[in-house]
Amino acid sequence: MRTQSALARVNDTLTLLTERTPAYRELTERFGPLLRAVAQMADELADTMPKLPAPDPSRLAAGVSLLVDADLAPCGEALKRSAAALLPVLADALRLNGETADRIAAHFAASDNLVGLAQARIEGNAKRFENTSAELGVQPAATLLFLSETIFAPVLRAIISGLDKPLTDSDWDQAYCPVCGSSPSISYLSPKEVTGLDQLVGGGGKKYLHCSLCGQNWRYKRNACAACGNDENQSREVFTSDKTRFERVEACHKCGHYCLSIDLRECEPHPDLDAIQVGLIHLDIFARKSGLVPVTATLWNSAE
Ligand SMILES: [Zn+2]
Ligand SMILES: [Zn+2]
Repeated sequence: MRTQSALARVNDTLTLLTERTPAYRELTERFGPLLRAVAQMADELADTMPKLPAPDPSRLAAGVSLLVDADLAPCGEALKRSAAALLPVLADALRLNGETADRIAAHFAASDNLVGLAQARIEGNAKRFENTSAELGVQPAATLLFLSETIFAPVLRAIISGLDKPLTDSDWDQAYCPVCGSSPSISYLSPKEVTGLDQLVGGGGKKYLHCSLCGQNWRYKRNACAACGNDENQSREVFTSDKTRFERVEACHKCGHYCLSIDLRECEPHPDLDAIQVGLIHLDIFARKSGLVPVTATLWNSAE
């Protein structure tokens, strides 16, 4: 049951961030329209997507994400709709020049091109993005990848919302997403639960990873690195700032990666897990100064 729309959650989180840290206003004003447009498109596409077959337990047990080898052609129209709505907002946020934006819009007006790129993204086929960037004269190639991912995100989110049985608490134990195979952008500790008739509030604190592309959440080992799975205490470290101890950096000195983490037992209302990242850049800067690399590069954590 959906209790709050994705758009309402993003709006609430952006408001909270600017109230808490006025210095973040410039960033929320630059990226807010993009976060809102993605959430609104995900809301609009929910319940309109073709249903996926039920997940095959043996494939999941073997670590094969749900959308690997899936035919995304039935999502072609939704991808086109998402591209048409998001490209103008993306062009603004990324300050693309008009000619480049026009060439990309012409390429994305054909659903075959979008379906091909979406499948390439899920298969990890970076070559296809390099070739298309060269063909369209878009530099750097990472720009086309970011544009594409932002356009795919609401479509994939809508597909997930139609799953009969969510994969959030399945037996999946990989550090990549059970739906689309992407790495996580943030992790969280689950909120306290109201239990039984006596309405006792307690528990929670289970660790989940949040997919950087499709937004799927999945359970993960509490004491393991979200990049390499390292669970040795002596090579892992957690940093917090004194004021917001529920927002943390989980660092792994074995692989040199870090992942942001938020303890949902300590924050009410719960933030949108994508929008909140724009307000955690001070933690990214701290981690990068310590020589660590994010598990997943995003527009916000890799900006100079
Ligand atoms: Zn995913
Ligand atoms: Zn690691």
